[in-house]
Amino acid sequence: MPEPSTPLTSIRARIQDACAAAGRDPTSVTLLAVSKTRDAGEIAALADQGQRHFGENYLQEALGKMPALAGRGLVWHFIGPIQSNKTRDIAAHFHWVHSVDRERLAQRLNDQRPAALGPLNVCIQVNLDDEDSKAGVAVGQVAALAARFHQWPRLRLRGLMAIPRADAEDGNRAAFHRLAMTLSHLRNTMPALDTLSMGMSADFPVAIDEGATLVRLGTALFGPRPAREPH
Ligand SMILES: *Cc1c(COP(=O)(O)O)cnc(C)c1O
Repeated sequence: MPEPSTPLTSIRARIQDACAAAGRDPTSVTLLAVSKTRDAGEIAALADQGQRHFGENYLQEALGKMPALAGRGLVWHFIGPIQSNKTRDIAAHFHWVHSVDRERLAQRLNDQRPAALGPLNVCIQVNLDDEDSKAGVAVGQVAALAARFHQWPRLRLRGLMAIPRADAEDGNRAAFHRLAMTLSHLRNTMPALDTLSMGMSADFPVAIDEGATLVRLGTALFGPRPAREPH
């Protein structure tokens, strides 16, 4: 019997198609369902279809939903901007953080990661457009921050994340390529790095073509978000 078609099955098929077009193994790309603004019931519905990885941007909102979803083996990724006073809860409740962009934050996450949990998986967020207003480390500063991770045993550096500007004419191909080259360069000295977190609903096939190992999709899975997001 064919699987009933849902947004999740159709996105999985599009990821497979993008992998096939790029000559990549479809299991090399992880789908992160970005569940900001979605309630626990909507998340449970995707989890019932086998979705494991969920991404959240707002700490209080995420903490409110997690208890109802406990025991399902979900993997929680924090992908939003981080205020220093939020690091303790992030370190205690998430498996991954994609938005680390300064040494002080990494130090706090390391110090506050509970000893009973394994190391916290971390991606360094890179500011590819060198816009002052945006979060992220400039490309030229990534290697220096990455080199510090050996002093943080409670963190496991996994790779790089970026949110390119939304209006690039090339569908962000040049930006994704730049992030992939930056990771490739780091891997010369840190071969264990295995994660390129890039690509969202509008541009994930291009990101996969450029080497994304994790795509972060919200709208494509859940439909449009409410215009104003809670903070
Ligand atoms: C909201 C968000 C996404 C998902 O965006 P969509 O366009 O809805 O797929 C991905 N990454 C980050 C960092 C986000 O904040």
